[in-house]
Amino acid sequence: MLCLTLTGSTLEENRALVEQNRTWISLAELRLDHLNRDEQKIASSFPSTVDLPIILTFRRKSDGGLCTLGEKERLQTLYETAKGDYAYVDIEEDVKKSDLKFRDSMFEQKVDLERMLRERGVRIIRSLHDFTCVPADIYGRISKLASKGDIPKVAVTPKSMIDIISLFRVQAELSDIKDKIIIGMGDFGICARLLYKKCGSMLTFCSDTQAAPGHLSARTMSELYHADKVDEKTHVFGIIGNPVYHTASPRIHNPGFEAIHYNAIYVPFLVDSVRAFFKLAEMLQIHGFSVTVPHKRNVQPYLGRITREVKQIGACNTVTRIQNMWKGTNTDYYGFLSPIADEIAQENIRTALVIGAGGASRAVVWALHNHGIKVTILNRSLEKARQLAEETMSSFDSLENCNLYSNSFDLVVQTTSVGMAPDTDEDPVPSFVFTGDEIVYELVYQPKETPFFKRATEAGCRVIGGAEMLLEQGKLQFEAFSGYHYPHWIQPDI
Ligand code: NAP
Repeated sequence: MLCLTLTGSTLEENRALVEQNRTWISLAELRLDHLNRDEQKIASSFPSTVDLPIILTFRRKSDGGLCTLGEKERLQTLYETAKGDYAYVDIEEDVKKSDLKFRDSMFEQKVDLERMLRERGVRIIRSLHDFTCVPADIYGRISKLASKGDIPKVAVTPKSMIDIISLFRVQAELSDIKDKIIIGMGDFGICARLLYKKCGSMLTFCSDTQAAPGHLSARTMSELYHADKVDEKTHVFGIIGNPVYHTASPRIHNPGFEAIHYNAIYVPFLVDSVRAFFKLAEMLQIHGFSVTVPHKRNVQPYLGRITREVKQIGACNTVTRIQNMWKGTNTDYYGFLSPIADEIAQENIRTALVIGAGGASRAVVWALHNHGIKVTILNRSLEKARQLAEETMSSFDSLENCNLYSNSFDLVVQTTSVGMAPDTDEDPVPSFVFTGDEIVYELVYQPKETPFFKRATEAGCRVIGGAEMLLEQGKLQFEAFSGYHYPHWIQPDI
């Protein structure tokens, strides 16, 4: 179930939020602490005005909320509001039983909130928050929270892959607790939010306003990832990197899986330790994953098989599980070649100038070299250019001398990160003059048109943008992952 966290300051605003997100969510959480004081007083009526089960929560500042009232007043407000038709009421783990008894003019004796809720069939969520770590005794604490038949909720902050493993182990350790809520907050936690069912969590929270660290929107969770459709048969794929959330790959693979009705999900994993990730991959039986900076080299010791290209380039961007062994391939190599394959076959490209000597350049230079194309490499640090040139029998020079290389090449490939967002005004070779006859290939895809791309277009060159290579390499990964061609009727938003 996807639960929308409602953070409007009025009930009307929250009703509108429910309405906007209705297609993607199964329930919503009313956050009393986000309502203004007057609205709090009438919030008991809220559930009867929306057609969804509602969780009532009144979060203290120390638990990531906005409530600054004294504890007695906070709990009194929670009690008054809980008289409404709520499906769940959230009570923090450290609230004492004695603090949940209230004097009420309607009754002679003090009213026990927990008892009142249970008698009315309202489920109590017992919540624990930790914004610093995943507590070492997390399994014991979840068991304790569940001991009275309540729903335990832990919202904790993984700071590493090892912490993420602890969260995903909750299901194996505590499978007897059927209803529980497990949340990984912050950047590391996003994979646990998307794969909440694999953690054994009955629901996960989402919002458009990042109501808690790491929230994704309901639309993204549902339409892009189909997180609520994950079941035991779902094949899990992903991308590992650090950073990783800028990547467009989930927008290539998830719509592709959906189009061919393949029960699979593709999730970004923020990975600090490749070793720990391979452990997680075994635990979750991950079927395959893409690899981005800085792990393209780091994964290699864990691979049982690598292709010739991975060996030559020294980088692997695709890992698939083949008969219980990890196989590493490099689809950047073929993705780069794809848009110029015909020109190469027709021998229209015999010479190439490659600007840059980083990771992407290695795939480009090896791909061109293996097809008999004479390559010259220009790079800011000469030593890196020299090294790659020696491996591939290419020529090399410093980037500063780029003006000397105008008018000499069939193909010019820009592989540096210069011009990439946020520094979109920069050109790595401002003094290089295009004749208009070259085929020009810009690897940067964010933005789609860099200053280098624009200059080449204005000079009349045929220009290939980085998005084309990105999509081509993604399609090849998709084939490696699913065994099917990428659906031709899909146009991914990259
Ligand atoms: P990388 O390994 O970090 O290499 C960066 C390259 O850029 C190096 O040659 C570096 O030169 C050069 N560079 C960086 N800042 C520079 C500056 N201010 N002036 C001159 N040169 C500079 O990065 P990468 O993985 O190769 O990625 C490079 C670009 O390619 C990125 O924009 C990436 O998004 C893009 N890319 C696109 C695709 C695609 O499918 N379209 C695939 C892979 C990569 P030094 O050696 O002197 O530092």
